[in-house]
Amino acid sequence: MEKGLDILGLTPIELDSELEAHFQKRGQPKYRAHQVREWIFDGLALGFGDMTNLPVKERHALAGPFVMEEPVVASIARSKDGTVKHLWHLRDGELVESVLIPTEDRLTLCISSQAGCGMGCTFCATGFGGLRRNLTSAEIVAQYRASQRWAFDEGKGRIGNIVFMGMGEPLANRKGLFPALTILNQGYGVGARRITVSTVGLVPGILDLAERPEQFRLALSLHAPTSELRRTLIPLEDRYSLAEVLGALRVFDEAGGKRITFEYTLINGVNDHEHLAPQLADLAAGLQAFVNLIPFNPIPYQDWEPSPPDRVRTFAKAIEERGVPVAVREPRGRDIDAACGQLRASAITEEEPQADAGVT
Ligand code: SAH
Ligand code: SF4
Repeated sequence: MEKGLDILGLTPIELDSELEAHFQKRGQPKYRAHQVREWIFDGLALGFGDMTNLPVKERHALAGPFVMEEPVVASIARSKDGTVKHLWHLRDGELVESVLIPTEDRLTLCISSQAGCGMGCTFCATGFGGLRRNLTSAEIVAQYRASQRWAFDEGKGRIGNIVFMGMGEPLANRKGLFPALTILNQGYGVGARRITVSTVGLVPGILDLAERPEQFRLALSLHAPTSELRRTLIPLEDRYSLAEVLGALRVFDEAGGKRITFEYTLINGVNDHEHLAPQLADLAAGLQAFVNLIPFNPIPYQDWEPSPPDRVRTFAKAIEERGVPVAVREPRGRDIDAACGQLRASAITEEEPQADAGVT
């Protein structure tokens, strides 16, 4: 039997036209479409059965032409620092994660765009497992819906920012990502400037994103200011060199007021040498980019260590001295393996959670 249309993966315009056609066929008033739309975007309804201002018959009639599938929670882990990691079970058994990160003034959601990742970065746990599959736009959006519902239930308020820094390379899944961006922005009302797409440097994807009229933010996972060094960390460098990636970023930048962030994971003795900091600063200055330094999160597949705090400080200072805005990102949720790059490792070791993991 043919499966119905995945309603959570439709953009608001698609949703309106599908629903209007559906209700028209059923001789129902036009406003029914609006009611369903409100249940989805504002009510965060779990299913058609929740849509209580629709006649019961109409609720039933939606199931069939449409499906509305929510991921099932496989586990929830709460960090001592307030970070909360959801592990979601998708309908075919794949596992993906999203992480809610509260800071003083806002709640940030980090979501996944793929199950696994095919980019094979040598410092990233997700990369070691390879790509399992792309997520659909509905599966991307569903992570937001379920996390927001959870945050409301827990009295944690509205999600203010969304970052695509969970599992996967979002720009390698534009088919899922691009509609998801539209849906999150136009449907759920998350401002484009509050949504950050993080990429390892997929040039065609950066150029496609540059063409979008909305001001989605872009983070480039740079990790090395030279092509030679970058190649040892990021195999994609062989396909899209640093120079090409920077060229694409220039196009993105010129496309209009979109702020770019450089992500730079500091690995002890690998990419944290003092002479690299000015090189990084120069690249950032050329694009008016903001630099985010992230202490490396150790992963099971490599014996690398994070740079010690004084090395991080020296590195940050050298960048700052060149007039480039820089921040050292505080590692969050380490006790629950919620930190970036840890997601796959934690899924694999799920059978044997750490003693302090606080898995509920
Ligand atoms: N694929 C995208 C987005 C997901 S990874 C990308 O690479 O940008 C999200 C961020 O986590 C990236 O900046 C990535 O470089 C970083 N990251 C991956 N593994 C890490 C690790 N072990 N320690 C610290 N940061 C890591
Ligand atoms: Fe994929 Fe990003 Fe990990 Fe690289 S760092 S393997 S692109 S998830």
